[in-house]
Amino acid sequence: MDLNKYIGIVEDWPKPGIEFKDITPLMNDGAAFKYATEQIVEYAKEKSIDIVVGPEARGFIIGCPVAYALGVGFAPVRKEGKLPRETIKVEYDLEYGQDALTIHKDAIKPGQRVLIIDDLLATGGTIGATISLVEQLGGVVAGAAFLIELSYLNGREKLKGYDIRALLQY
Ligand code: 5GP
Repeated sequence: MDLNKYIGIVEDWPKPGIEFKDITPLMNDGAAFKYATEQIVEYAKEKSIDIVVGPEARGFIIGCPVAYALGVGFAPVRKEGKLPRETIKVEYDLEYGQDALTIHKDAIKPGQRVLIIDDLLATGGTIGATISLVEQLGGVVAGAAFLIELSYLNGREKLKGYDIRALLQY
């Protein structure tokens, strides 16, 4: 199945000069959403995953069906102030300024094999921070999977040494 045709290209959103890749048409189509999920599940099956971790909010949308299909749990990574119990935090650089991501302290047990999932890999800042959270808790990052990779932003460079899989490349 050609997943490309289910990605909307939105010029100048959310800011002038940005070409946003909209995954909602893919989510809207049952066959396309199932196919994309299954592709990531196939990748994950080779890696004996114990738990899936995904950053808000689109990492939840792609990560949860994969976790369900694998029969493993899902741990959310969220912006500061959103998770109710004790968390650890990582700050990371954005194009302008900084942001912080958090995870519950007991979300991952030391030695667990983690698959990180998000909708899209751009500069790698979000996934770099997510990897750092997982590793601080003693998790082993077995791989990271995305629907889309914006290869011209070189996110993979930042994630050297990790196994990265993207279903679509731009
Ligand atoms: P990075 O941290 O790799 O620079 O950016 C990736 C994060 O920003 C992901 O969590 C992703 O959801 C979001 N993101 C950035 N650009 C786009 C885009 O064009 N489309 C979508 N769907 N998400 C984007």
